[in-house]
Amino acid sequence: MLALQKIAIGEERLELREVPEPEVRPGHVVLDVAAAGICGTDLHIMKDEYRSEPPVTLGHEVAGTIAAVGEGVLGWHVGQRVVSETYFSVCGRCESCRTGRPNLCARRRSIGSFEPGGFAKRVLVPATNLHALPDALGFPEAALVEPLACVVRGMLELNDVQAGDRVVITGPGPIGLLALQVAKASGARVVMLGTAADTARLALARRLGADAVLAVEAADTLDVAVADALGGPADVAIECSGAAPAAGLLLRLVKKAGRYVQVGLYGTAISLDMDQVCYKELRVSGSFATTPSSWYRALALAETGAVSLAAVVGSTFALHDWQRAFDAVTQRVPGKVLLIP
Ligand SMILES: [Zn+2]
Ligand SMILES: [Zn+2]
Repeated sequence: MLALQKIAIGEERLELREVPEPEVRPGHVVLDVAAAGICGTDLHIMKDEYRSEPPVTLGHEVAGTIAAVGEGVLGWHVGQRVVSETYFSVCGRCESCRTGRPNLCARRRSIGSFEPGGFAKRVLVPATNLHALPDALGFPEAALVEPLACVVRGMLELNDVQAGDRVVITGPGPIGLLALQVAKASGARVVMLGTAADTARLALARRLGADAVLAVEAADTLDVAVADALGGPADVAIECSGAAPAAGLLLRLVKKAGRYVQVGLYGTAISLDMDQVCYKELRVSGSFATTPSSWYRALALAETGAVSLAAVVGSTFALHDWQRAFDAVTQRVPGKVLLIP
């Protein structure tokens, strides 16, 4: 089968390669991949800004149908529609693993960075990672359950966006659009910030319920504009862009004794005025990937329609068209770009 791989460290090039189809193992299933989302992390892996073990097939946002069931797997059958959590293996013994945070295990090996991922026709995953897809949730939008679980982890599990909160979000990419919907589902008022290059993405944010969208280029009046739109200064700032200036901007915009939530990754060290965290008595939280609990909550939000994943599906490309798909991500087209292997 064809698989989109990172070939080697120090090599920014990805390559579509012929690889053997995965064989099912005890405790595992093989999925026919129906859709796999391209994540900011995939771009970071391509540029060696995120750890990986090449040669490796990329793709960790996977939805599909069970094609083969390994020995000892109970409760799953061929033909079932599923999504899969992203950890292929963790140590199971460290403090993180034993306290419900497998995402922080130092020996975690995830699909799409250390083990073969979903940018291929088939992928092997542990059966313990599976979640059955509700009928209400189709392909390809189901591939967005993983990024939604990341957002749930950051906003609802490690922070607590609540009804009545005034929320400002930077970065109207797929993660920002999901964060926006989670905030609205929680009963918050939301302003989405982007740049002049984000006009189309900001329009989508507006359609998805943002109370206001603003381009940061209006910087001198931005504080006033954000406070006007929210009915006061922001209680919660959520950084989803992974662009360094956005972090500084949010430290400025968030109110005293407010909360700052870091979701985006910069891929490098950035410079920030951390004194603001003290002067304003901010509560800062970050999150890394997902835990099983965030998947259950993400699926509930998607199944009930509190969050529309379909609305965040941007464009889909065949696997052989991966270069155009990656270009679309770089050009910041609105919504999630997905590969259909
Ligand atoms: Zn991702
Ligand atoms: Zn561990």
